[in-house]
Amino acid sequence: MENKTMSRRGFIKTATAAAGAAGMAMFGASSVGSFLTSCTTTKEHFDTIIANGVVYCGDGKAPLTNAMVGIKDGKIVEIGKLGNLKNLAEHCNKVIDAEGNAVSPGFIDIHSHTDTNLLVAPVGDSKIYQGVTTDIGGNCGDSPFPYSDEYFASKQGTLRHGFPFWKDLDGFYDALRAKKIGINYKTYTGQGQLRSAVVGDNAVKATPEQMKKMIEILDAEMGMGSLGLSCGLEYAPGSYASNDEITELLKVVAKHNGLFAIHMRNEDDHVEEAIAEAIDLARKSGVRLQISHLKAQNAANWHKGPNMLKLIEEAKAEGIDIAFDRYPYIAFSTGMNCFVPLDMRQGSMEEVQARIRNPRTEKIIAEYADSRLKRLGGPQNVLIAACDKPENAMFSGKNVAECCELTGLEPWPMIKKILLSEYYLQMVGFAMKDENVQMFLAHELGMPASDGSVYSPEGPLSQEIPHPRSYGTFPRFFGKYIREDKICDLQTAIYKCTALPASRIGLKDRGLLLPGYAADITIFNPNTIAEASTYQQPHQYSPGIEHVIVNGVHTLEKGKFLGEFGGMIV
Ligand SMILES: [Zn+2]
Ligand SMILES: [Zn+2]
Repeated sequence: MENKTMSRRGFIKTATAAAGAAGMAMFGASSVGSFLTSCTTTKEHFDTIIANGVVYCGDGKAPLTNAMVGIKDGKIVEIGKLGNLKNLAEHCNKVIDAEGNAVSPGFIDIHSHTDTNLLVAPVGDSKIYQGVTTDIGGNCGDSPFPYSDEYFASKQGTLRHGFPFWKDLDGFYDALRAKKIGINYKTYTGQGQLRSAVVGDNAVKATPEQMKKMIEILDAEMGMGSLGLSCGLEYAPGSYASNDEITELLKVVAKHNGLFAIHMRNEDDHVEEAIAEAIDLARKSGVRLQISHLKAQNAANWHKGPNMLKLIEEAKAEGIDIAFDRYPYIAFSTGMNCFVPLDMRQGSMEEVQARIRNPRTEKIIAEYADSRLKRLGGPQNVLIAACDKPENAMFSGKNVAECCELTGLEPWPMIKKILLSEYYLQMVGFAMKDENVQMFLAHELGMPASDGSVYSPEGPLSQEIPHPRSYGTFPRFFGKYIREDKICDLQTAIYKCTALPASRIGLKDRGLLLPGYAADITIFNPNTIAEASTYQQPHQYSPGIEHVIVNGVHTLEKGKFLGEFGGMIV
């Protein structure tokens, strides 16, 4: 009895201490129930008991061995040693035996592009099968809202994934709520989409009226539950905003204590300047800053990794609330149109394609594309995703060098051919150094995130060839980076996937295993967890994820979906 009490007190204490360290003053305030000590406890006490596992509460501290977690009505109600409760089945409806496994808070993917894919694959297949219970979307400046009055009016009477076309976040969240979803979801407002809706898609300055309108819309979206603002400053049209314009928007986010996620203006030759710019935006606006997918791209910039971290540490020391995320891969994923310089990417797809066809502008684009390809290390480092058009089918899943061989074309004419036929085609670029990935993920302000989306091996999404990160981010993090490379210990790794992202998002009852917290729980085997997804065959689930529980709903059991949806908008 004494042991149990000490163990529990110790647990609660360490949990709240870590919560404080992570800037989560609100965490750890839940009431503490009494221990399970007698056999008179009835089935009313618990819906589910997780027994025999090694319980990592997400706080980064040493785990509780042979502990149990009691769940009732979607919440964790008790955690601790089993005591003299011998026959667990008498005390709950379901017992999950977690022997040999780690019991962790569900993983939180702080950087995803899940968004409308969740309406197509509402189970959240590629995410729930890697232990993710909460996905954060609307990143890199792109969100499926807001839309201009004119655009919305033109869409009246049309459906989007079976729902009446929505205009704002409320409408999008309503569509998700109506659908029943398997994972929790929350989204940023994309600054690129916001600017597109109010200012348009060209490189023009926002008028004072447009500025006022953007502020009004963003303020309203924040009121509807937007997490904050995301920027994609390598993309059109978000990059056409001045920093003064972005700062004014960020002040709105700061007012709501939201988060600013930035895909920086540059991630290669000028990455250090881009970090300084991101920090300056946070300094001027007072917003909390999350640098998205921190990377030093192209071999010429790999040496910059340590200095990039130094810039971030200095900002932290200055008092800026800053952290960053990073996918556990050396290859990035983006659109093939990244080979078109930004100022040539203005306007509609047809306008950009006209510039590619016009010999005068094509010359500029071709020079840019060739130099970009060279900096990436050559055409063999660019892998083409799944093509839509039947005539392009032979290029799907091949690198540009292979495509050139097939067609006899040089790299730019090959890329041009694709951009004129499938402008929005996705690509994967192998351009980063693993030592930097390790260093970023190990850093105390760093956390893994997919930068991927929900996909499914079945249905329409199975036809695409996404970057394997959409299926494998967390299993790869625990398999390669923790078990093999040992960049940090297991409890720290779990903290990076749970309490740390929860504190950035401001989720007050998720990310930790504590009484009163939502029962989002992932049970995995630290010895077998690994990524199965590959660049050629990404639609594969990872071994080692044994059980996933979302808001108390047992969703995944030994790699099988049990048919129940526990997700919600958080
Ligand atoms: Zn991005
Ligand atoms: Zn992204």
